[in-house]
Amino acid sequence: MAKYNGPKCRQCRREGMKLFLKGERCHTEKCAIEKRNFPPGQHGKARKPKIVGYGLQLREKQKARRYYGVLESQFRNLFEKANKAKGVTGEVMLNMLERRLDNVLYRMGLGTSRSAARQVVRHGHVNVNGRRVNIPSYTVKPNDIVAIRDGAKKNVNILMSMEATAHQPTPPWLEMDREALQGKILGIPKREDLVQIQLNEQLIVELYSK
Ligand code: SF4
Repeated sequence: MAKYNGPKCRQCRREGMKLFLKGERCHTEKCAIEKRNFPPGQHGKARKPKIVGYGLQLREKQKARRYYGVLESQFRNLFEKANKAKGVTGEVMLNMLERRLDNVLYRMGLGTSRSAARQVVRHGHVNVNGRRVNIPSYTVKPNDIVAIRDGAKKNVNILMSMEATAHQPTPPWLEMDREALQGKILGIPKREDLVQIQLNEQLIVELYSK
């Protein structure tokens, strides 16, 4: 599956907020949002357009898509699934995004960013319930066990990520065994568990419901 390869900080500047796309750098003063918090482009500094209506809905969708590193078509498919599922569509959509395997690894601290976690999955270093899964969009379920495969337990990148994320809190829907490099999905993430991202998912639902 294709992925966005352009400048990551530019995406944060476009949304006017930290999307934490670059791992440790995002927590330092080198972060572009700390230094240049205005939209990218020649007129970025000068223009301050007031965004309303459709523009607001579009920005909210782009923010969610960029935060989770999902392309437009994938995001749309995920929304359609959420729309057909039981429950509040916006919340279902967010919990499906949270349960993507690359995001789960990121939440476990096995990657300093979602793209680093995605690489760990793509390189075949991850087992789900004892079987290798190398699909970053794989959706985990409650009681699934996500673990680094034995052959990758000494992988330098994974160990460095574990060290860098040592103080990162584990979300309540996840149980992490840092020694064994494995985690268990305790339940479906609730909306209140996703406080890191300021997102109005209702605007995304409105956008796609037109
Ligand atoms: Fe975004 Fe991280 Fe770049 Fe800051 S350093 S602008 S949070 S990607």
